[in-house]
Amino acid sequence: MTRPTVCWFRRDLRLDDHPALAAAAGAGGPVLALYVLDPALLGPAGPPRRRFLAAALGALQELTGAQVAVVAGDPARVVPAVAAAVGAEAVFVTADFGPYGRRRDEAVAAALAADGRRLEPVDTPYAVAPGTLRTGGGTPFQVFTPFHMAWQAHGWDAPTPAPAVTWLAPEAAGQPLVRPTSITAGPDDTVGTGGTEPHWIPATAGPEAALDQLDAFLAGPVHRYKDCRDFPAEPGTSRLSVHLRWGTIHPRQILARLGPEPGPQAFARQLAWREFYADVLYGRPETARAAYQPKMAAMELDDGPEADRRFHAWAEGRTGYPFVDAGMRELAATGWMHNRVRLVTASFLVKDLHIDWTRGARWFMRHLVDGDLANNNHGWQWVAGTGTDAAPYFRIFNPVSQAQRFDPDGSYVRRWVPELVGVADRYIHRPWDDPKGMPLGYPYPVVEHDAERKEALRRYEAITTATRA
Ligand SMILES: Cc1cc2nc3c(=O)[nH]c(=O)nc-3n(C[C@H](O)[C@H](O)[C@H](O)COP(=O)(O)OP(=O)(O)OC[C@H]3O[C@@H](n4cnc5c(N)ncnc54)[C@H](O)[C@@H]3O)c2cc1C
Repeated sequence: MTRPTVCWFRRDLRLDDHPALAAAAGAGGPVLALYVLDPALLGPAGPPRRRFLAAALGALQELTGAQVAVVAGDPARVVPAVAAAVGAEAVFVTADFGPYGRRRDEAVAAALAADGRRLEPVDTPYAVAPGTLRTGGGTPFQVFTPFHMAWQAHGWDAPTPAPAVTWLAPEAAGQPLVRPTSITAGPDDTVGTGGTEPHWIPATAGPEAALDQLDAFLAGPVHRYKDCRDFPAEPGTSRLSVHLRWGTIHPRQILARLGPEPGPQAFARQLAWREFYADVLYGRPETARAAYQPKMAAMELDDGPEADRRFHAWAEGRTGYPFVDAGMRELAATGWMHNRVRLVTASFLVKDLHIDWTRGARWFMRHLVDGDLANNNHGWQWVAGTGTDAAPYFRIFNPVSQAQRFDPDGSYVRRWVPELVGVADRYIHRPWDDPKGMPLGYPYPVVEHDAERKEALRRYEAITTATRA
């Protein structure tokens, strides 16, 4: 009889278009579906991500008829123990390209090998595996546009249907089984907002929900994407980031359905940004924490009690800049923030408050339901001017004019900042100028943008001068 195999699910919580699962099933024997709750990953994940994970695992249980063994512990210990318990020679996985995932998989592969078993990486969470594309000079791409062209030229496989699988009962794992709902418990570091936990609607978590969301987006909004994607009050973007984060959908499943029209192609270009940042992080894993451009590490930054006070005003949505505050409150309430607002809030922290981008990136990672190391940290580095292909440091977002351009009638601000509901459109993005006075309970600006813009430029100039000297 053919021996069982293990399919260890990680960021691939679906059955369709799952080459690692297909390879496990293709070996001929029954498959044990395994998910390991790794404390090293669960610890830093905030309530929104833990809840989404719990709900996505719940959806996977439904799809498999409750055949997923969810166990807790260090994967280097647990995975070999499970493989031994079921008598599997091979553990199939979708390869992980992040710095932690690569270290973890090396440790798991070594522990399996010590016991005469093997880890079999098949496929990746990307249309094109990080590390595949190279410039003419054979080096990793540092600039998005040529990467995008090479990525399109390379192409990707068509999605495949779910394989037929004979599941092995979860009890065969020989480990205590954990109920996915227990994952939602954990430390909550919501600051000063009355302790209300962010809420995410778990009904939107599984692969079926992801495909429904894709259908709805393709049925209309994708054709207006180019014009609407920057307006946070509109339902102009796909909201698929969380599904891509957890692999409840694979980018191949999306790309296969995008036509050549401008809207779908503009959308595919954004998917390529996700692939670009994964490629960059794969080539330079230290940029998960450090500036991609080393010279920028010398930037003069603010810390101490006043910087802490300002950081908390930013995190809690009390900066006195309505567009920034709306974004930070949307994040706290839903675990998601619109891309345009991510750009403006991140710029405000770095260039108006002069606080280290890594501090903001950590806050985002803790609170975002789609928190993804490559996208988040390189999104922050792009804004901070420390990354690849970066917006020059001197391009500084103005929180008022950005708001006037992308939230012209203030509907986004009014949705998230109830203190400003009664303010006239003319003053909604600068309520301090309202002749009727500042609405009760809303703060005056924590800093003055024009002055801080000049200060940011002075600090940048100091680095540039030092580098030239
Ligand atoms: C400071 C900052 C932090 C960010 N942190 C994250 C993060 O932790 N996780 C995350 O998935 N995205 C992050 N982004 C990128 C972007 O904001 C989100 O992917 C997007 O807002 C998700 O909404 P959507 O799915 O509706 O996007 P859509 O506009 O529908 O885009 C489709 C998909 O393309 C990818 N994408 C779109 N824009 C970008 C981009 N600028 N960079 C990389 N990929 C992109 C995402 O996977 C997204 O789901 C960050 C951006 C900034 C500026």
